[in-house]
Amino acid sequence: MPAEAPAPFRRLAIVGLGLIGSSIARAARHYGMVETIVAIDRDAAVLERVRALGIADVATDDLVAGVAQADLVILCVPVGAAGAVAEAMAGHLAPGTVVSDVGSVKVAVVAAVAPHLGPGVHFVPAHPVAGTEYSGPDAGFSTLFSGRWCILTPLPEGDAGAAARVQAFWEGIGAIVETMTAEHHDLVLAITSHVPHLIAYNIVGTAADLEAVTQSEVIKFSAGGFRDFTRIAASDPTMWRDVFLANKDAVLEMLGRFNEDLSALARAIRWGDGDALHALFTRTRAIRRGIVAQGQETAEPDFGRSRAERGKTGEG
Ligand code: NAP
Repeated sequence: MPAEAPAPFRRLAIVGLGLIGSSIARAARHYGMVETIVAIDRDAAVLERVRALGIADVATDDLVAGVAQADLVILCVPVGAAGAVAEAMAGHLAPGTVVSDVGSVKVAVVAAVAPHLGPGVHFVPAHPVAGTEYSGPDAGFSTLFSGRWCILTPLPEGDAGAAARVQAFWEGIGAIVETMTAEHHDLVLAITSHVPHLIAYNIVGTAADLEAVTQSEVIKFSAGGFRDFTRIAASDPTMWRDVFLANKDAVLEMLGRFNEDLSALARAIRWGDGDALHALFTRTRAIRRGIVAQGQETAEPDFGRSRAERGKTGEG
């Protein structure tokens, strides 16, 4: 952040030190965004790694003590766990504390978290659209959010100053911030992230179940498009179970549209309508080029992408 701008927060408490939580810890330290970083996780093995990696000043499984003096608390747990964590810490937050999250679904998280937080605590929901298919504290890296979008979905009745400070925090660790409603976020992410993950899980599952094609052939000949699906389908099972359960309506809406379009494609193949296929494939190629042109992906082939490139996949 610019040298003249004061840091928006002093003491950051992160709950859940997985890929995203540990990346925030690394980035906050790398960019000098806070004085103190408190890592809170229920898992002793995760805390042991956090201490060994030296990515936080304090590492504890005590949620209440961990959040007590923080002026920013970021929930980095699976979306299905956010409500329970909020309930457990709510009575122990100092007045004026800003609570945020990184959940891939926003309407359900707002509904689960907001009712627990008292009037003096400001909730600013957020979703960094950056990730990889890896989990845990060792998977994180400080540049995960560099040049990536972070979507804020402030509550209509929320504190504008708190939202501005959360925006400054994300910009300070390299992200580009956009603001929208939680409802709109969930619709957009259903088609750009959630349904693509469902398709990947489904196609890898289907291939694994095929009896006519052996498992070894699936692995051996995987370069034919299948390999990129397997990368996405390796994403964290708990996180993605929660995403689909929490964003049910938007996912089912987009899946309905997807199924209709897939039926149209099947019809084009059945009736030999090459023009229809060619027209669609031309349109989709232009979309891919647009994403590359906006700097959200590289033009290099994906296979064997480096860690730095993986950080640019914009998952979650
Ligand atoms: P992760 O690597 O699996 O880390 C999640 C951490 O939260 C783990 O340390 C886990 O501990 C802990 N946790 C789970 N339930 C908990 C609970 N009830 N109380 C306290 N800690 C708990 O997951 P992640 O990829 O960082 O995802 C975290 C959040 O970021 C999710 O809400 C996800 O939607 C969002 N997100 C993910 C991505 C992505 O690409 N991965 C991108 C953007 C946003 P255990 O080991 O004990 O389960």
